[in-house]
Amino acid sequence: MVIGVLVQLVNYNTDKVFDYCVPSCLCSKIKLGMRVLVPFGKQVLEGFIVEINKNSHTDNIKEIIQLVDEVPVLNEELLLLGQWLKAKTLAPLISCYQVMLPRGLKAKKGTSITKKYESYISLVNNVDYDALHLNLPQRKIVNCFKDQKLILKKKLQEISVSSVKTLLEKGLLQEVVKEKYRYQLHDVKPVKYSLTLQQQQVVDEVLNKLSTNKTFLLYGVTGSGKTECYMEMIDGVLKKGKTAIVLVPEISLTPQMIERFYRRFGNQIAVFHSKLSDGEKYDEWRRIAKGEAKMVIGARSAIFAPFTNLGIIIIDEEHSSTYKQEKMPRYYTIDVAKARAKYHNCPLILGSATPSLESYSRAISPKKIYELLSLPNRINQKKLPKVTVVNMHNKKQVNNFWLSVELCEAIKHTLARKEQVILLLNRRGYATFVTCQNCGYVEKCPNCDITLTYHKTSNILRCHYCGYATKKINVCPKCGENSIVELGNGTQKIEELLKQQFTEARILRMDYDTTSSKKNAHETMIKSFANNEYDILLGTQMIAKGLDFANVTLVGVINADISLNIPDFRSSEITFQLLSQVSGRSGRKDKEGQVIIQTFNPDHYVIKYVQNHDYEGFYKEEMKIRKQLKYPPFCYLTYVKISGKDYNVVFTEAKKIRDYLQKYLAKNIIILGPSVGNVLRIKNIYYFGIILKCRDKKNLNLVLGDLISHYQNNKQIHLDIDFNPNHI
Ligand code: ADP
Ligand code: ZN
Repeated sequence: MVIGVLVQLVNYNTDKVFDYCVPSCLCSKIKLGMRVLVPFGKQVLEGFIVEINKNSHTDNIKEIIQLVDEVPVLNEELLLLGQWLKAKTLAPLISCYQVMLPRGLKAKKGTSITKKYESYISLVNNVDYDALHLNLPQRKIVNCFKDQKLILKKKLQEISVSSVKTLLEKGLLQEVVKEKYRYQLHDVKPVKYSLTLQQQQVVDEVLNKLSTNKTFLLYGVTGSGKTECYMEMIDGVLKKGKTAIVLVPEISLTPQMIERFYRRFGNQIAVFHSKLSDGEKYDEWRRIAKGEAKMVIGARSAIFAPFTNLGIIIIDEEHSSTYKQEKMPRYYTIDVAKARAKYHNCPLILGSATPSLESYSRAISPKKIYELLSLPNRINQKKLPKVTVVNMHNKKQVNNFWLSVELCEAIKHTLARKEQVILLLNRRGYATFVTCQNCGYVEKCPNCDITLTYHKTSNILRCHYCGYATKKINVCPKCGENSIVELGNGTQKIEELLKQQFTEARILRMDYDTTSSKKNAHETMIKSFANNEYDILLGTQMIAKGLDFANVTLVGVINADISLNIPDFRSSEITFQLLSQVSGRSGRKDKEGQVIIQTFNPDHYVIKYVQNHDYEGFYKEEMKIRKQLKYPPFCYLTYVKISGKDYNVVFTEAKKIRDYLQKYLAKNIIILGPSVGNVLRIKNIYYFGIILKCRDKKNLNLVLGDLISHYQNNKQIHLDIDFNPNHI
């Protein structure tokens, strides 16, 4: 028997199927999608079986070393999906398969993970236990089986180790070994609301179309009960014997969210996100593959969950930039979801309070590319919180540079009512840095062209691109003056200011520094805030999404402007989404909520629409700009990144590539560049970018595919192609 194997090397040159023959004793076990160990040149590698070709002759073909799996890790659908992913992203096929799998199941030598087992005990059929002469502990053990069939051996041994042993030896009990899964959720009480009329309509609309391949956009304001709707839809799907995938942005996969689903669906759920250990991921993935889990709730990569009979895919916060994979293969999760929904002929639900412009335009277009479902009101007609905008230019309103009189007053009153406050420090593309007040010198990374970020706790300056670190200096190396100061502002600084003003308040700070230290720091913090162990939650973007705290009635945005100023065509959209999201954390349950936004641009249209909770208004205004500048959704963007160590070589080749594209691409594709990116040099590598804009892809993938082939052996130049980039 001859099989075709795709080996683990991520390289365009080896990205093809190699033939191996299989010794006859293994032939009956071979299935597509299993991993095998094979000799490859002088190495021994793992690979996936992607072809089985029984009749080919076997002369001069190397033999496989061994099979890695008993059952395939890639099923038929995922094997096809990999090919689709390759065509879509132009990444090597092997990387398309690897990205679908958790580490322990990738074709990668030395990453195998072992299963864990646990012993259970059961009674033996046809034994009359009442008639037996048993001693007291033995009787006690047997009695345990009155209302349970299987009991953990460890539990019974607590009664008596020797009695368990004796009963087993006498054949009066039997041992059953079962696999033990590493990820465990704790028991919680189930909660189920009866849906509101509006929620019910949304759910029915989807349940009536379960066997169509439609994409729905569920546009519902924050707190309108979208998550409840998702659960009800899933319930309907599970009742039909089918399965479900629910995706949420990584950062909102908090215990709160997982618990909500667990309360409703218990052990039918699998959980999948980057904080799980490799062993936990391995187990959760296999629970899905074996059909033991009926639904998964997870971050981006859970879109590849190996269900064989999907009934629905739900993507919450569909506008979130985390749905784009930023490494090869640079896939966009919603595209993958569409491909899977098509394969399974099932609906795809995209949910958001602030849909991406792309999605909303599809939903309201006369072509009805998506079907629009709306939840315009909060549960029980609760009002959206009142939003106040504070002009930080107005000196009378400003307490100190960071906190306005108005925000401080509001915090004071909220604390007095024993309610909670969330404060957002918007710091996208923004950090504390040090500069010389005398000459303006700014310390930069010697490897990358960017400013170093100051970390106060450790008193070091760090490069956020390459990790380079150095001690903070006090004397300017350029002018020699003792006048180095910190500029910009971090959460630490604001925490200090808050502590000075609200001496009694218990303040919880959540940012990269405080959450990256321990494995579950993020989860633990959210739990303790939910338990009212803190009064003020101060944090970065990571606190804006998906959280549901009943006692939060004030949300303050310290600096709304920062993300408006980043040089990116999505900056307004990102800011609108962020401010709306975080505003939505206020007043979600019984109490009235308020929001205070501090800004230096009170007249900016983004701020105005956020203040009025006017997504449609924002949409219309932003679409005008996008149309004028020919940006998505009025075109597809593709970013071609050219990089290398030698500036001149990179620049010359980048110009050659531009000329090549101009010659071969369809004439209506706009070509911009080459130009330097936000950062010209990172880790001593220079970068140039070419932007392609088109309404219709025409021959784009074909021409770019040829370009990749042309450069695949070039050691000086690296090409990287990003379709639908998040940023340019
Ligand atoms: P969203 O996902 O749209 O932000 P959620 O599903 O989180 O909204 O609902 C907001 C709050 O309202 C949650 O605390 C939720 O438990 C509650 N809720 C949702 N649906 C109902 C309902 N039908 N009846 C009562 N409370 C509900
Ligand atoms: Zn650096």
